[in-house]
Amino acid sequence: MAYYKVNKDICIGCGACMDSCSEEAISITEEDVAFIDPEKCARCGICASLCPQEAIEEHEEEEE
Ligand code: SF4
Ligand code: SF4
Repeated sequence: MAYYKVNKDICIGCGACMDSCSEEAISITEEDVAFIDPEKCARCGICASLCPQEAIEEHEEEEE
């Protein structure tokens, strides 16, 4: 299953992803970038689809 991760170099800390997340998995850190809590994230992909910076990237889980 894929997971989502914020690219800190691109994120502008606008908070749009945080507002869109129904799981409350996203917070804005002290560095003004979004952080996705992998424990809470339901991997729906909504935040990634609406980020104006396309800063939320989908990664494939590594095979064990
Ligand atoms: S929507 Fe995109 S640019 Fe805005 S805080 Fe979230 S990840 Fe960063
Ligand atoms: S993928 Fe869905 S559940 Fe996970 S952080 Fe984004 S909006 Fe929230």
